[in-house]
Amino acid sequence: MFSDLAAPKADPILGLTKLFADDTSPDKVDLGIGVYKDEAGEVPVLATVKAAERWLAETQTSKRYLSSAGNDAFNSATRALLFGAGTDAFTRSRTVQAPGGTGALRLGMDFLRVARPGGRVFVPTPTWTNHGHLLAAAGCEIVHYPYYDVATGNLRFDEMMEALRGLTEKDVLLLHGCCHNPSGADPDAEGWKAIAETLERSGALPFVDLAYLGFAEGLEEDAHSVRLLAQRLPEVVIASSYSKNFALYRDRVGALTIVGTNAADSDRAHAHLMPLARALWSMPPDHGAAVVAHVLQDKALAADWRRELAEMRTRINTVRAALVKHLAGAPRDYAFLGHQRGMFALLGLSPDAVRTLREEHHVHMTGTSRANVAGLNMANVERVATAIASVSD
Ligand code: PLP
Repeated sequence: MFSDLAAPKADPILGLTKLFADDTSPDKVDLGIGVYKDEAGEVPVLATVKAAERWLAETQTSKRYLSSAGNDAFNSATRALLFGAGTDAFTRSRTVQAPGGTGALRLGMDFLRVARPGGRVFVPTPTWTNHGHLLAAAGCEIVHYPYYDVATGNLRFDEMMEALRGLTEKDVLLLHGCCHNPSGADPDAEGWKAIAETLERSGALPFVDLAYLGFAEGLEEDAHSVRLLAQRLPEVVIASSYSKNFALYRDRVGALTIVGTNAADSDRAHAHLMPLARALWSMPPDHGAAVVAHVLQDKALAADWRRELAEMRTRINTVRAALVKHLAGAPRDYAFLGHQRGMFALLGLSPDAVRTLREEHHVHMTGTSRANVAGLNMANVERVATAIASVSD
């Protein structure tokens, strides 16, 4: 009976939403859920998205089914964004549209059972919590590798490389392509080179989660990781998301891209993805992907979108720098936050300190002390920094 079901473990992020809603302080600040907010604290629809939606409403003549691969123009535009149109990686890759980055990850993990049967998936510690849930749901065996040291604010690079020496050709290495969630700490160019060399030696398959393309340094710069891996290695799997860089969160727009040794191999892999997608969702939701395809194909809209994306990126980097500046007198040296990128900062506070921040200072973040920097603005950053400093040791 349903009445016999034990209560499931509460989702900490959803719990945060309620705590924030229940906080009656006019000064409350939400640094919890991972959405980009503008200087006014809003999560607006991008102007380029609005323009494409108007175009879509006027020109769409049918809502008949598409294939399990989704929108072809979107898939091609995704590969162009990842690798550059006409490049070798563009030519030897194939993309399947998926419901958000989450859908792309799940589809990719189901594909691992076909592409690397019996293989283990090496996952960074820490990582986005949903990676564990998705891998478990797909029946993948997880091996954790050290990635980031919360105490020092640095990558555990040498320990990571040591752990990656245990990879075999049957295994898979899960990587964050840029703006690592939750730490914001990414390998530098040398680091990516070393990772590619390890993968070359072991024959393991890189599986890159790219949910924040364009949020660190720029579209081209942030694609460096996947471009390098595709250049150096025969095969790469990439799960990308348009939730953040197009602010299309609820429309569920993502893509799974497979880079094979050659186009024929990728076609073979693509043929395996189709029945997997059919069993998961039959076909992905069209609206958001049609919007992205139109924006990326229209020269003027694409240029406008790049400007809107740059505005989001610049604001995040500006408030991040302001946070570091206002934390300068804190008991702990928070300078490391200034070298990290993307929406998240892992502050390294105890659960008690996080509770004090929430209850006494009305600053809300996850229990792991992951703060969404995009929830800050120039009006609240100093007060938040003072509050963080007051609970730091
Ligand atoms: N991967 C990472 C690291 C994320 O942080 C997120 C979203 O927060 C996703 C994937 C999935 O994004 P979505 O399914 O909303 O497109």
